[in-house]
Order: sequence, then structure tokens, then C-alpha cells
Amino acid sequence: MRLCLILGDQLSPTLSSLVDLDPQNDLILMCEVRSEATYVKHHKKKIAFVFSAMRHFAAELSDKEFNVHYVKYDDPNNTGSLLGEVARIVAQNAVTEVVVTAPGEYRLQIELAGWSAELNLTVTIKDDDRFLCTADEFAKWAKGRKQLRMEYFYREMRRKYSVLMDHDGPIGGQWNFDAENRKPPKSGLDVPDTYRAQSDDITQEVMALVEAHFPDHFGDLFPFHFAVTREQALDALDQFITKRLKLFGDYQDAMIQDEPWMYHSHIGFYLNCGLLNPLECVERAQAAYHKGTAPLNAVEGFIRQILGWREFVRGIYWLKMPDYKSANFLEAKRPLPDFYWTADTQMNCMRQCITETKQNAYAHHIQRLMVLGNFALIAGLDPDEVNNWYLLVYADAYEWVELPNVTGMILFADGGQLASKPYAASGAYINKMSNYCGSCNYKPTVKNGPTACPFNYLYWDFLGRNDGKLRGNPRMGFMYKTLDRMDDEKRQAIQDDSNRFFKAIDADEKV
Ligand SMILES: Cc1cc2nc3c(=O)[nH]c(=O)nc-3n(C[C@H](O)[C@H](O)[C@H](O)COP(=O)(O)OP(=O)(O)OC[C@H]3O[C@@H](n4cnc5c(N)ncnc54)[C@H](O)[C@@H]3O)c2cc1C
Ligand code: SF4
Repeated sequence: MRLCLILGDQLSPTLSSLVDLDPQNDLILMCEVRSEATYVKHHKKKIAFVFSAMRHFAAELSDKEFNVHYVKYDDPNNTGSLLGEVARIVAQNAVTEVVVTAPGEYRLQIELAGWSAELNLTVTIKDDDRFLCTADEFAKWAKGRKQLRMEYFYREMRRKYSVLMDHDGPIGGQWNFDAENRKPPKSGLDVPDTYRAQSDDITQEVMALVEAHFPDHFGDLFPFHFAVTREQALDALDQFITKRLKLFGDYQDAMIQDEPWMYHSHIGFYLNCGLLNPLECVERAQAAYHKGTAPLNAVEGFIRQILGWREFVRGIYWLKMPDYKSANFLEAKRPLPDFYWTADTQMNCMRQCITETKQNAYAHHIQRLMVLGNFALIAGLDPDEVNNWYLLVYADAYEWVELPNVTGMILFADGGQLASKPYAASGAYINKMSNYCGSCNYKPTVKNGPTACPFNYLYWDFLGRNDGKLRGNPRMGFMYKTLDRMDDEKRQAIQDDSNRFFKAIDADEKV
């Protein structure tokens, strides 16, 4: 008998480990284990989501006549680890081989590599073919290139999958329509609500379990409305395509007070655990363009996120691990301030984004990048602590996608392997792209002093602090010229404000 282990982010009916499984003779194992639920203290909603989706997937496999052994978290015999659970089945059955689709995270890949010796059995690890570019293909593309830039990778992916192509060129004559995107929010926008599934008995049982076993984990468990089956996830995708895609491009970077979902798709949770596959998302968006229900700037922008960014960051992850995890090019070492957990800060943009993260286990890209991430960058926060936070708080977080976004995209801790320059910005950017500043204790137009927006002076302090490492970056030249033109008095004010701000954070005072 073969034993097929299915992991919590492998909930795809077409999974490679399932392909030639014999429903009569082979056994499937799925287990909710302590080691996976707590290697970081995931948001309560994420645990509820993954466990509920796993239980629904196991039920669907049983309906297809597969022989499924499902171990619940509170099963008294649960050993708490994947290897422990596999060993338990192996001890009780005539297992001849363990089959598993390659895990998404490096730490599990290393763990699995030792299983054959531990179990004294053949352990077959099958490729994960749910991505659109394999790690090998990415490595070939990357080889010999001085710089890895998403835009060039994306063009090749467009050609490879013939997406938005007009013969050999891009539809519309351009690969990228960002110049038409990224408008500031306008007042009176009627943003459609996110998809809301009804909780069934399985989800309710899981929620009770999460309340009982993970009370000290971050985040609000209620209300819970994520899709937990493939059918529901497809409904969520369709709702996005019909209701929000047409304005996705226009308002991709916009932030509005108390509008956590904006025109984004909210499908990352489903893609990353296998309920949706990336190509079907791309194809449905492309079909909306051809039907005339969504404009090219929106459709191209959305497709670029999935066919471009998602595959690109995964490629970087497997190309650069394990060294990538300890990268700290800017030698940042300030501990994560407590307000990342409590939202107790006078900076309204941070308070909004953290509160919404706590409520929803979700924040959209520009909140993660230009508010929460921007602050982490310019305040010089320790990459380990920032990575831990991002991996823990979002329901779509898995290391393969979280780490490159944090270490590479927001912290520039990889020295520019992923992004050509740090995404640092002053309060002017947040003021332009959101209406957060209107409800803030600080003023975005004031540059120094106690009422000044902290992003304003921290931005220049960041450039000064990292002069030796960033001045040579051709894309930073203009900023350093501006810094060089500042007189001593101005520089001193920046220094004094930054010192005062850091002193207050270090003393756990409210900032
Ligand atoms: C600091 C930081 C941390 C992040 N951590 C995660 C994470 O843990 N998991 C995760 O899936 N995404 C992460 N992202 C990328 C992105 O913010 C989320 O994918 C997106 O916000 C999910 O919401 P959505 O489904 O509404 O996405 P949309 O904005 O609607 O985009 C559609 C899809 O494109 C993909 N995508 C978009 N941008 C990226 C990107 N930069 N990298 C990879 N995929 C992308 C996602 O699959 C997403 O679902 C992070 C970004 C930043 C800046
Ligand atoms: S003034 Fe500064 S701190 Fe306040 S919301 Fe605006 S950008 Fe954020």
C-alpha cells in the first residue's frame, strides 16, 4: 500500500501526489499537527481557514471513494508532527512507499529529505506542478543575468502561456499599463463588499477548536467568511471578476479609511492553499477583457500580479534559499515596536492597517508595502522580526511568498536582488494615495517638530543612516542630491526628531 500525505496547502484535486493513486488499495493521510499550526503563532483566522478547508477537501476525496485517514488537532493520539503521524500509520499498515507532493517551504523540504532514513521506507517527492514556472525553469532564466527584474520575466511568461498576446506582441501595444493605473481614491466610491461564505458545521467545529486551543494567537476569529471549498473559492473569484476587476487597475494603490478590501481580488488565500489554480484566475480575467466587461489596464494589471509577481517571488525564493532568510544588507536591528501587535499608535495609517490586519488576516498590497512595510524599512526594523510578523498575521502567508516580499521588496535586505531600489516614501505618498491623514494626530505637510508626520523625518534619516550602502544606487541619485542640498539646521532637525521618535518607541511610549 502507498501512503499519500497531503499537506494543508495542497488542497488541489489535480495534485501530483494524487494523480496515479489507487483509491482501492492506497491510503491518503491528512493531519492537523501542532508543529505546523504553531511554528509561527499564525492568526486565528488562518488556522480556522486551513483546518476547515482541509476537512472539506478530505470529505470531497472520501466522496470520490478515496481511502482517507484524517487526524484532527484534538485527537488524543495525535503526535503533533507530520513525521510522527506518518510513522503512526506506517506502524499500523503494510505501507510500501510514502508519496508526497513537494512542500512549498524550504524548512519542510529539508525535513522531508530525512524521512526515508527515519522510516526505513521509500519516500517519493513529486514535483508541485501547480505553479506556472518551475524552480528549474526560473533558475535557467536567471542564469547569467546581472539583474533579475520581474518585468522581463513577466514578458516571457506572457509569451509562454500566450496571455494577452496579439501574434508576437502584447495586446494594446504595451506589456504594462501601470501608467494608467494607481489613481488616488476619489470620494464617493461605492466599493463592493468582499465574498462572504456562510459557515457550515465543519467550519463551526473548527472555530470552536481554534478558540479552545489557540487563545493566545494574534487576531480576531470572528466574523469568519472565507471560502473553504473549491466551489466557494471559484464563486469568490467570479465575484471579483464581475464586481471589482474593472476598477482593479485604477485603484490598485488607493487606500480608504475603513475600506479594507478595496478593488483587490482577495484570492491569495485560495491560490496559496490550492483551492484555486493560477492559470484559471488568469484565464477568467483575460476572458473578461475579451468580453468587454473589464478594461485592458485592469486585466493586464491583475494578470501581471499572478503570472508575473507571484511566480517571480517564488522563483527568487527557491533560487536564493537558504541564505535569503538571513539576509540583512542594511544591518537593520531595531526590534518590532509593540504597536504592530496592538495598533495602539497615533499614526492613523499604521493604526488602520494593523487594525484591519487583526480583524481580517488580510491587508491589501499597498497597505503591506507602502504603510506597514515602508515604516519597517525607514525605521530600520530587524528583518527577522518583520518576517515573523508578516508570516504570522496574514491568512495567505507562506514563507515562499512572504519572505521575498518582506526581505526583498520592503526591507531591501537582499541588497537589491528583487527590487531595484528601496520602496521608501515620506508621508506625502500616503497622503496622496489615501484619506488616512485627515484623521491623524500628525500632519503630513509638516516636516519637523512634534506635529510632523514621522514618515517625513524618518525617510531622510533612513537615507542618511544608509548613505554608504544606498548612495551608489543609480535610482537613488535624485534623493541623495536633495539630501545634500539641505542645510545643517534642517539636517539637525531631522536627526533630533528621529532620535526623539526612536527613544519613545524604545521606551514603549505611544507614538
Ligand atoms: C510585505 C509584503 C508581504 C506579503 N506577503 C504575502 C504573503 O504572505 N502571501 C501572499 O500571497 N502575498 C503576499 N504579498 C503580496 C500581496 O500583497 C498579496 O498577495 C495580496 O495583497 C493578496 O491579496 P489579494 O488576493 O487581494 O491580491 P490582489 O491584489 O488582488 O492580487 C492578485 C494576486 O496576485 C498575487 N500577487 C500580487 N502581488 C504579489 C506579490 N508581490 N507577490 C506574490 N504574489 C502577488 C497574489 O496571488 C494575489 O492574490 C505580500 C506583499 C508585501 C508587500
Ligand atoms: S500624517 Fe503621516 S502618520 Fe499620519 S496618517 Fe498621514 S502618513 Fe500616516
